[in-house]
Amino acid sequence: MTMDQVVDVVIVGGGPGGSSAALVLGRSRRNVVMIDDENPRNKLTKKSHGFLTMDGKKPEEFRKAAREELTQYKNIQIYNDLVIHSKKDEGLFVTTTKQGLVVTSRKLIFATGMIDSLPDIPGLHEAYGASVFHCPYCDGWERQNQPLAILGNGENLFDYVQEIYHWSKALVVLTNGPSLLSSEEHIELLERGIEVVETEIARLECTDGLLKKIWLKNGESIERKGLFIMDTGAHQSSRIPEKLGVALKDTGAYETSGHGETAIEGLSIIGDAKNKFTGLVGAASQGYEIAVVINNELIKEDWASEKKRE
Ligand SMILES: Cc1cc2nc3c(=O)[nH]c(=O)nc-3n(C[C@H](O)[C@H](O)[C@H](O)COP(=O)(O)OP(=O)(O)OC[C@H]3O[C@@H](n4cnc5c(N)ncnc54)[C@H](O)[C@@H]3O)c2cc1C
Repeated sequence: MTMDQVVDVVIVGGGPGGSSAALVLGRSRRNVVMIDDENPRNKLTKKSHGFLTMDGKKPEEFRKAAREELTQYKNIQIYNDLVIHSKKDEGLFVTTTKQGLVVTSRKLIFATGMIDSLPDIPGLHEAYGASVFHCPYCDGWERQNQPLAILGNGENLFDYVQEIYHWSKALVVLTNGPSLLSSEEHIELLERGIEVVETEIARLECTDGLLKKIWLKNGESIERKGLFIMDTGAHQSSRIPEKLGVALKDTGAYETSGHGETAIEGLSIIGDAKNKFTGLVGAASQGYEIAVVINNELIKEDWASEKKRE
């Protein structure tokens, strides 16, 4: 189906970033089309934390509440669909979905988030979101003072260990191969009773996603109640902005400026796609900010075109 009307804004992605932008643009009397294929990054987590008024809620509850609020506004149309292509044509964006929707818009926002590609360790995928985590701000409180492991290696590991140490001092660090920590860093960890294990991991032993033991390839095991992974292998959910001409940074996030504006006029990127990891409230806040920027741009454009008509 091709929409006849040119809408003000198409938003790709309906997580906290996209939904928040949709709400503010909708309330700014803009015609908004939000397209989302319901595959958010945090879908595996049992409870979300750190978003005031939503602390401890399941991701589905957040999503349901957001949709209920958005559907109050008749100028916001929501499609459960996958965007497969967007192009810029004579100053307008033409976006196409898998189910055949074609919609033309004055502005385009990508709030498509990131996808994690976890290390290929048996048992780890099943435990992710239940007792294996990445972000201590999201899941550290529930694991404070518990015996935890950290999986990681390389240049950011030392900082990451210090971060997790704030939540629990009962730590063991698993580098899953030869450690790249410096000898000074090794000594500092040992001084705090933190062992660094270089033996490769064989598998995680879990019950209903709850970690019991980490089995090593030498046959030994370590009892732990939680595991924090430093690098989740995060990569962009959508490469469409790249095809439109937006550069990817070394971090894997898209190159943006200000509130998410890109080098392609009229195209903005917010949330995890912009910052790799923003958290729910961070993504929602970026949605609000870019909505105000875009609405102001449209106000100016409309003002100028009215003058031309006279
Ligand atoms: C296990 C886990 C637990 C977490 N826990 C917390 C927590 O407790 N607190 C917290 O603040 N943060 C938490 N986070 C982080 C949080 O989930 C993200 O920072 C946040 O969801 C980013 O919001 P977003 O809107 O940018 O992207 P997302 O929420 O990932 O939403 C992106 C949306 O875009 C859609 N999409 C992607 N590509 C397309 C396309 N081509 N067409 C249509 N739709 C598309 C996806 O289906 C998805 O719905 C957690 C993350 C993980 C992985």
